[in-house]
Amino acid sequence: MSKSAILWNVGDKWNVEDVDLVEPRAGEVRVKVAASGLCHSDDHYVTGDQPAQLPLVGGHEGAGVVEAVGPGVTRVKPGDHVVMVFNPPCGDCHFCLTGRGNLCFYNPPKTAPLGPAFRARGQEVGAIAELGTFSEYTNVAEARVIKIDEDIPLASAALLGCAVITGWGAAVYLGGVKPGENVVVIGCGGVGVNSLQGARSAGADIIVAVDPVEFKREQALLFGATHTAASVEEAAELLATETRGRMADVAILSVGVGDGDTLQDTTRLVGPGGRTIITSVTPAASTTTNLGLFEFTMSEKILRGNVYGGVNVYRDVPLLLGLYKRGKLNLDELITTTYTLDDINQGYADMHAGKNLRGMVLHG
Ligand SMILES: [Zn+2]
Ligand SMILES: [Zn+2]
Repeated sequence: MSKSAILWNVGDKWNVEDVDLVEPRAGEVRVKVAASGLCHSDDHYVTGDQPAQLPLVGGHEGAGVVEAVGPGVTRVKPGDHVVMVFNPPCGDCHFCLTGRGNLCFYNPPKTAPLGPAFRARGQEVGAIAELGTFSEYTNVAEARVIKIDEDIPLASAALLGCAVITGWGAAVYLGGVKPGENVVVIGCGGVGVNSLQGARSAGADIIVAVDPVEFKREQALLFGATHTAASVEEAAELLATETRGRMADVAILSVGVGDGDTLQDTTRLVGPGGRTIITSVTPAASTTTNLGLFEFTMSEKILRGNVYGGVNVYRDVPLLLGLYKRGKLNLDELITTTYTLDDINQGYADMHAGKNLRGMVLHG
């Protein structure tokens, strides 16, 4: 038995209720979830922007302690502290072998598709990203857990499951920011501020944070921003002045909900050869964009999507925790407000109101 937050229908609120959970099956790990981040992506299931088979237990950014393991599990044992990840590389498909484990052909992992582990109201209930961290307990494939040191706070570690990796990797790997380059990040929530941190890690010079919310612009300065702007137009003027017309080398779009109509203005923040990374999730049904291809072609610009920041989680979760331990990566400061699972809908209301970098559910 576990208390979990379930989405039964598009447009519903998260419903917190008791569910049954099967014993860990072969290759599966039972995690007592300590903390789960309130990522915008889960809300895309609520709005229907992300189509999915419902019902689902939400949550894909969590950390906890292994409680039990199924037959054949070798990566972890009961008592281990773990971060859960949704995109583990298999290590031997075409994409993994070419250094792009985030695009692994086998996601879910080959060993994982065991079917839903949750049951509620007499029916099977799946889990978002096959993690389902909005739950006191969850069962996940062993490939999806990464053991971490016990001195790392689990709420801070949870952030590595999505926000930090997606944002930091957007600058470091997908944007390929190099020392002395200029970076602009549009949208400075829980993911965007990590792109600021990534730009700082990569040695960027000018780092512009764009957000209409004053609180987020203030916070952005703690995560590596050298300048802030309230709008894309303001950022364009600022970059034109500060770079003497060269503009940014990398733009990262990280607003809550993507919109194809903003592409032209976003890509104009970068100069010739500039790279634009689209981290924002745009509604799946939306297929139109506004982009002047003449200018785009004639200035050799690059446009790139973002799957999990281009990271290899087995390499980069330990790497990022090393940066955190030595004060080079902010994690604790990302958590603005903590909630109980019962207050999860308040957490999402606060997210929509722009009050949080990251809201975090702490399971009792
Ligand atoms: Zn997420
Ligand atoms: Zn693979």
